[in-house]
Amino acid sequence: MIIIGSGPAAFTAAIYAARANLKPILFEGFSSGTPGGQLMTTTEVENYPGFPEGITGPDLMINFRKQAERFGTEILSEDVIEVNFSSRPFKVRGSRSEFAAETVIVATGATAKRLDMKGTRDGEFWQKGVSACAVCDGAAPLFRDRPLFVVGGGDTACEEALFLTKFGSKVFIIHRRDELRASQIMRERAMRNPKIQILWNRVLEEVGGDSVVQYILLKDVKSGSQERHEAGGLFFAIGFTPNTEFLKGQLTLTSNGYLDVKPGTSLTSIEGVFAAGDVQDHNYRQAITAAGSGCMAALDAERWLSAREL
Ligand SMILES: Cc1cc2nc3c(=O)[nH]c(=O)nc-3n(C[C@H](O)[C@H](O)[C@H](O)COP(=O)(O)OP(=O)(O)OC[C@H]3O[C@@H](n4cnc5c(N)ncnc54)[C@H](O)[C@@H]3O)c2cc1C
Repeated sequence: MIIIGSGPAAFTAAIYAARANLKPILFEGFSSGTPGGQLMTTTEVENYPGFPEGITGPDLMINFRKQAERFGTEILSEDVIEVNFSSRPFKVRGSRSEFAAETVIVATGATAKRLDMKGTRDGEFWQKGVSACAVCDGAAPLFRDRPLFVVGGGDTACEEALFLTKFGSKVFIIHRRDELRASQIMRERAMRNPKIQILWNRVLEEVGGDSVVQYILLKDVKSGSQERHEAGGLFFAIGFTPNTEFLKGQLTLTSNGYLDVKPGTSLTSIEGVFAAGDVQDHNYRQAITAAGSGCMAALDAERWLSAREL
């Protein structure tokens, strides 16, 4: 069994597979993303069950990794560059090694899109008031009773803004056009909420502050004028890029690039290849749901192998 990825989904699949004596080989990635996945880029994780005081993202992922290794997972610090699922055994080519496998679990996650400008980068205010996940970070004390800003115009932007109304003094949606892309129901919910204001025809130009975000600069695209707003936080809700580039032509993808799985299972378009975590889930995108689907993929793969007496 080969597992591709190294977030909560991949390591959970590895723990289950290794305990079932399947001796999984796990490609954790190298330059394809952060080994350990998205949680390596965050500080406190306060909603992962089992840690009543919270745990940092990197500590949580180190624990996942150790638990997978404890049962005999072999971890390779390589990217998977190419796969060939046209016949079995499947071929998986990494940046240094190549393997044949009877079954493969793909758990390569997704990358949150963020705008690259002054103040939003790593080492600036990323994770110091700038985030790409309101559900994950919104409850942090940093955002309490402060003006919060959401960049986007789709359903996710409306959903994140509505969620943030529980914490912020006021929530602003920054949208570059004069009409939201969101579905009518989400649009109405956001526009009806007295704590939400939409800043039409605006684009973000800069995020600033001292140790955390204090203000943002916006440009009015119609008049060209610049505005400064006091801000306690800025949330990007401009989508995710699922890490499926290396799978094109091998597995069926949805129109937005996610792996297409049979609903309620981890089964992909190729028998013997399974998918778990954010790479197949544009809806929930949480560590716990990724871990749960990693467990499903390992159980599906184990049953598939034993049904064929492999
Ligand atoms: C800033 C931030 C904060 C968050 N906070 C929380 C939180 O508090 N609570 C919560 O539940 N969720 C949180 N999330 C969401 C959570 O991190 C994700 O839902 C979860 O990590 C998804 O897990 P995953 O296993 O699907 O993949 P990911 O965590 O996305 O990991 C996939 C990894 O696979 C590897 N990979 C990719 N391509 C290849 C390849 N070709 N070859 C080999 N390896 C590859 C990379 O190393 C990549 O990082 C947060 C997300 C972000 C961005």
